[in-house]
Amino acid sequence: MLGLDRGAPGIPGGADRRAALIPLTMERCDNCGNPYDKTFEVHLGGVRHVFDSFECAIQKLAPACAHCGCRILGHGLEADGALYCCAHCAREKGVQRLVDRADVHHPA
Ligand SMILES: [Zn+2]
Ligand SMILES: [Zn+2]
Repeated sequence: MLGLDRGAPGIPGGADRRAALIPLTMERCDNCGNPYDKTFEVHLGGVRHVFDSFECAIQKLAPACAHCGCRILGHGLEADGALYCCAHCAREKGVQRLVDRADVHHPA
């Protein structure tokens, strides 16, 4: 059986071939600095941002809840210039008029 062995192929110049495939037009992610060929742009308030992933875009640009600090990925709730992830967080900050459900009456 050993007679069928054509010799070990090895992995010649693997790192060099990979380096040659990196395009020269790659941009770096504004959040993590990763140079990537599939970055995308987000324009916010007239400023152009470049990201390699939605996660990095969220980390950099998504507003944080004024009470719990979590990132607001949906529309969120706004009162008195502050953004909240939900009506509960707004109430914890003293904003009573925001509600999650219109058909529920909260006890005083
Ligand atoms: Zn990134
Ligand atoms: Zn919150």
